[in-house]
Amino acid sequence: MPNRFCAICGKALTKNSPHLGMCINCYSTENPLFELVNTFPVNICIDCGSYSKKDVWIDSLNDDLFSILEEIIKNLLLKPLTRYKQIILTFTIKKDDLVYSSRKLIKFVEVLVIGRLKNDPNIHHQQVVRLNLTHTLCRNCSNLHSGTYFTSILQLRVKNESQFDLIDTVLDQISKYNKSLFEKDRRQYISQIEDQKNGVDLYLGTKELLNHLIKFLKAKYHFILKKTKKLVGRDNQKGKNLFRTTALIKFLPISKNDLLLIDKKEYLVENITRSKVVLRSKDSIKLIKEYSYFFNESTITKINSV
Ligand SMILES: [Zn+2]
Ligand SMILES: [Zn+2]
Repeated sequence: MPNRFCAICGKALTKNSPHLGMCINCYSTENPLFELVNTFPVNICIDCGSYSKKDVWIDSLNDDLFSILEEIIKNLLLKPLTRYKQIILTFTIKKDDLVYSSRKLIKFVEVLVIGRLKNDPNIHHQQVVRLNLTHTLCRNCSNLHSGTYFTSILQLRVKNESQFDLIDTVLDQISKYNKSLFEKDRRQYISQIEDQKNGVDLYLGTKELLNHLIKFLKAKYHFILKKTKKLVGRDNQKGKNLFRTTALIKFLPISKNDLLLIDKKEYLVENITRSKVVLRSKDSIKLIKEYSYFFNESTITKINSV
């Protein structure tokens, strides 16, 4: 067999050399396994670590910057290459000589990406990509910071001052419960609590949170619930109307075992079901009333609790 030589560098070719009359090195240079951009701009939220290339923010599973950067490299930078199943990609982030901004934030990092052909690891390619980092607040965190963004309102009301302690207790419970929701999903926040005459208004980040809170309270308290939906605008990007939901919760002003005076007759609150109140008089007369009865009827006087 006559000796063959690489058409580009003149090196003697072996049996394993790829075709086209080139040695492996020249072949790899002429036909890189992959191509990436040289600089890749990315936004990282200073508060929650979520990241974005454009408008869509992706929640990060990590807290420290380098783990977040690894996520960015896998999920954004190298994503277009994952369709090349025959290339094995590895990468390393250069961690020395980092350049910091005046706010002590890393301005950019260099990533060395190496790809090898699965069948022939001698064929490989490497490229350095610079990730330009913009440290900013994601949409959710900036809404959170402004304290003015909300999609739903939860109104908690009692009949009068005698029940104000109840509002305090409920707010305490809600704040503890919301803390655990917020830790799992940072969109579930209460942006504002406003005092009202007979209670408070809670401004909520999501409708989901509104439903969570209603369910949470239903398991503990008896109340009348009224939901209203109001058109507040239009999301042109999604082509949808935007509604704001308001849920009014009126806590039942009586509890089980309360003694009530109705039309000069004494009744014991024997039971409270999901929508009705069962009363019993001393002479065993049973009376069943809707919740609303106890908000409208002014002839009811609470005597005391047993
Ligand atoms: Zn060559
Ligand atoms: Zn954020």
